[in-house]
Amino acid sequence: MKKTNYHCHTYRCGHATGNEEDMVVEAISHHYEELGFSDHIPLPHLRRQLIKALPYALKDCHSFLSCIQTMIKNGPSMRMPYKMKEEHQLQIKQLKIKYPEIKIYQGYEAEYFLDYLPYYQQLLDNEEVDYLILGHHFHRYAIHNCYYGRVYLSDDMLLNYKKEVIQAIESNLFSYIAHPDLFMMGRIYFDDLCKEVSYEICMKAKQYNMPLEINGGGMRKGRRQVGDEMLYPYPNDHFFKIASQVGNKVILGIDAHCPQDINNEIYDQMLRYAKRFNLEIIDHLEFKKGNRK
Ligand SMILES: [Zn+2]
Ligand SMILES: [Zn+2]
Repeated sequence: MKKTNYHCHTYRCGHATGNEEDMVVEAISHHYEELGFSDHIPLPHLRRQLIKALPYALKDCHSFLSCIQTMIKNGPSMRMPYKMKEEHQLQIKQLKIKYPEIKIYQGYEAEYFLDYLPYYQQLLDNEEVDYLILGHHFHRYAIHNCYYGRVYLSDDMLLNYKKEVIQAIESNLFSYIAHPDLFMMGRIYFDDLCKEVSYEICMKAKQYNMPLEINGGGMRKGRRQVGDEMLYPYPNDHFFKIASQVGNKVILGIDAHCPQDINNEIYDQMLRYAKRFNLEIIDHLEFKKGNRK
């Protein structure tokens, strides 16, 4: 099996370290044949978007403060500021030439935000990016109380997550689903609703031949005690049991937030996890390009 990774961040998102070249050099030293950059997508007109989020943010002090802070900075510690986009993409173009021994791709990790779908399609159409992956962290706005990984995630929010992930799959804009089971971070117990949501996501992904990611970032958080089980917040054993029954294909995503995250231990750990659930692993990603007219 070829060693590939399509999920990697840089310092530009504000919560990772290492630049583009650091990541490439590390991947080469661990014999990766393909490396895709999928930093948190820079969004144009972010301030305008955040003003729209204010009524939601007002419901929660933490959200309100982070919303204001993001507005001031115009690019939070969550995603790459829009003004860095060109420089980042230029760097990657140059690295593609400098390191022919590894195949390098330009991608982004993006939420399914309705307002930004035309922008996503444009990035794919004008070939600024090779691919997008769905990292559906937020409902509607990137503020704390819309976060799908938050503790005590409500049933309503979980149903929103399902609905939006399914719409995202149908849009064909995203080549795979990063941490599809992110909701288990705050939901903790895999109840009947989690089961139903997981099953529907897996079925839709299967229908659209969209791989689900086994996320190394969740594994780095370590296992925690849930009832009588020791589970990662994600990848979640119950979710991937369902994926296995449905027959989903999976992809290993390191979700590297520093060069040292690209190491053999995490790769082997993800590989073992996929094998434990008898999941079919793909080592080369077919890029989806949206529903072009
Ligand atoms: Zn993510
Ligand atoms: Zn990520």
